[in-house]
Amino acid sequence: MKPTFMSNKKRIFTIFFLIIGILAPVSIVYSSKSDAASSVTLSLSIGLPHDGALKNAEVLPAKGEGYRLMQTARERKARFGVSELISLIKWSTFKVHSKYQGAQMAVGDLSRRTGGEAEHHASHQNGRDVDFAFYVLNSAGQSVGISEMIPFDKNGYAIDPPMAYRFDVRRNWALVEALITSSKAQVQWIFVAEHLETLLLAHAAACGASKQTIWRAEQIMKQPSKSSHWDHFHVRIYCPANDKPECRDFGPKWGWLR
Ligand SMILES: [Zn+2]
Repeated sequence: MKPTFMSNKKRIFTIFFLIIGILAPVSIVYSSKSDAASSVTLSLSIGLPHDGALKNAEVLPAKGEGYRLMQTARERKARFGVSELISLIKWSTFKVHSKYQGAQMAVGDLSRRTGGEAEHHASHQNGRDVDFAFYVLNSAGQSVGISEMIPFDKNGYAIDPPMAYRFDVRRNWALVEALITSSKAQVQWIFVAEHLETLLLAHAAACGASKQTIWRAEQIMKQPSKSSHWDHFHVRIYCPANDKPECRDFGPKWGWLR
């Protein structure tokens, strides 16, 4: 009986070590995969801005240091994007807020959680588009937060409500500069009305922005043919490198980004 007991014990040990031997490499592979996963971007932009989808989207919190998400974006659930876009929004608005105390950006629509057709927009479908209302000044010249987009004329005065606000060219230029020089994401377009682009570039030249930055801003800012964008910036970023080839860019790739 004794030898049988010993051999059973041996067998149990053998089985135990066999199981450990099988599981150990599996757990090493599993842990290295999860480590890798936590260090890379998981969000995925699919297709084109006007015909696309979004996977593992990141949500933009309702507020941050320097911005507030607009009520309309919350209601439409259009507050999702690729991680790179979310970082860019947080970073650029924080930068303006730090430079000019009190500046609060009203952030409009991004994309829906899984992308696809977006209410009120032809694009905004794959997590790479965001609307920013402008920074505005009240009639006393103070920076004030707004809850809806306000259109401005070529002199920088509010059209509706008339004359109540001024286009805050100083802060709006600071945002453009932050967006086009950021390493968080590569900006392809800032859609904005031509008459406001003129005000921004004139201010940039007057405040000593580098010729290179002004030239880049001139390429990136554009008034789309269909809509004038006199009440907001529409910012589009290129496909993040990790999202290719599922993600597809459309239009020019700026020479300095190649
Ligand atoms: Zn837009």
